[in-house]
Amino acid sequence: MNAPLPALPSLPALQALTVAELAERIGGGGAAAAAAAARELAAATLRALYLDGAPTIDAMRSLGAARRARLAEVVSFPRLERIAAEPSADGSTRFAFRLHDGALIESVLLPHHAGSQRYTVCVSSQAGCAQACRFCATGKLGLARSLAAWEIVDQVAQVTAHAGVRASDLVFMGMGEPLANEAAVYQAAAVMTQSHGLQIGARRITISTAGVVPAIDRFVAAARPYRLVFSLGSAVAEKRLRLMPIQESFGFDALLESIAAYARLRRGKHVTLEYVAIRDFTMGDDDVAALADLAARARFRFLLNVIPFNPVGDEFAAPTMAEVRAWTAKLRPLGFPVKLRFSGGRDRNAGCGQLGTALLADPQRRSATRRGR
Ligand code: SF4
Repeated sequence: MNAPLPALPSLPALQALTVAELAERIGGGGAAAAAAAARELAAATLRALYLDGAPTIDAMRSLGAARRARLAEVVSFPRLERIAAEPSADGSTRFAFRLHDGALIESVLLPHHAGSQRYTVCVSSQAGCAQACRFCATGKLGLARSLAAWEIVDQVAQVTAHAGVRASDLVFMGMGEPLANEAAVYQAAAVMTQSHGLQIGARRITISTAGVVPAIDRFVAAARPYRLVFSLGSAVAEKRLRLMPIQESFGFDALLESIAAYARLRRGKHVTLEYVAIRDFTMGDDDVAALADLAARARFRFLLNVIPFNPVGDEFAAPTMAEVRAWTAKLRPLGFPVKLRFSGGRDRNAGCGQLGTALLADPQRRSATRRGR
C-alpha cells in the first residue's frame, strides 16, 4: 500500500505569481506606503526563493519573522518531490520529480558546452502526453494531466538550486505538448522572465510544438515574445501521419499557414523545423525530394534541425552519426540551412524523445504517471 498523498494547500502557490501579483496578495490597502512595503516584500521574497534557493518560507531568514508570517497567510509554497538527479557523461543532468498526486515528470539541465557557465533547462509542461508521437517515449505513456504554472516554475527553481547555477535559456521540450497547456505555460513564462527571480530573457524561452494549429494562431495573435519551434517529424505527409497522429487533427497545409504567420511575426527570420532522422524511414531520397518541395512552396524561410532518432522502443532504428551526416549532405544543395542537433544526456535517457523512458521501464511508475494518481 502506498502512503496517502499529501493534499495541496488551498492558497495560491508562490511560484505561480509575478512580483506584482504577489504584492497584490500581500496587500496593504490603498496607502502608498503600505503598497510600497508590499512590493518590497514581494521582491525580497522572490529573490529569497530564486536567487538564494530558500526551500521553505521559514528558511527565508532575510525577510524577518513578521514578514514571513504575513507571507504564509497569503500564499503557499508547495514543492515538487525530487526523486532523481542523474548526471550524464556529457555534462547534462536528468531530473525526475514526483507531483503531489503521484504523477512523475522529468527535466534536464544542459550546459551549452563542456565547461560552460551558461545552462539551458528543458522542462516538462504535462505529465505524459496525449500526442502519441511514435519517436517519443513520453508519447507512449499517454497523458496523466497538464501541469500547473507553479509545477513548471518549480522544476527550474529546483534544477538550478540543486546544481548551484542560473539558467540562461529555457526550452519547453520535456514531457508534454506545451501548446496543449497554454495558460500555465504562459503564466510560468511570465514568472520566469520578470526582473525579480530567475530573470530568463523572453527571447531565450523556446516552446516546441508538435503543431497545435489553433494555439499557434493564438500565439501569433497575442504577439507572444517567446520563440516557437515546430516538430516536423517528416516532410512526407504519409510518413508524418504515421509518426505524428496530430496530423489527423491539423493537416500539413494548415500547419504551414500558421508557421508562415508566425514567421511574419518574427519579421521573416528563419523558423526552426525539427526533423527526426530515422534509419530506413525518414532518410531516403524521397525524403530529400519532399524537403526540396517544402522549401519551394513554404511561405517562410526555415532552418532544418536534424535530430538523430534516439532509441525508443523497437519500432524504428537509430542511425549512426556517419549515416546522418551522409544523408544531411544531400540536403545542402537545397538552399536552406541544416543543423545537426546533438542530443544531450542520451546515456541517461535524457536525450530528445527519451524522457519517460525510465517510466516506461517501470510498470508501477508508468501507471502512476498515466493515472496522475
Ligand atoms: S514529441 Fe512532444 S508532443 Fe510528441 S508525444 Fe513527445 S512530448 Fe508529446
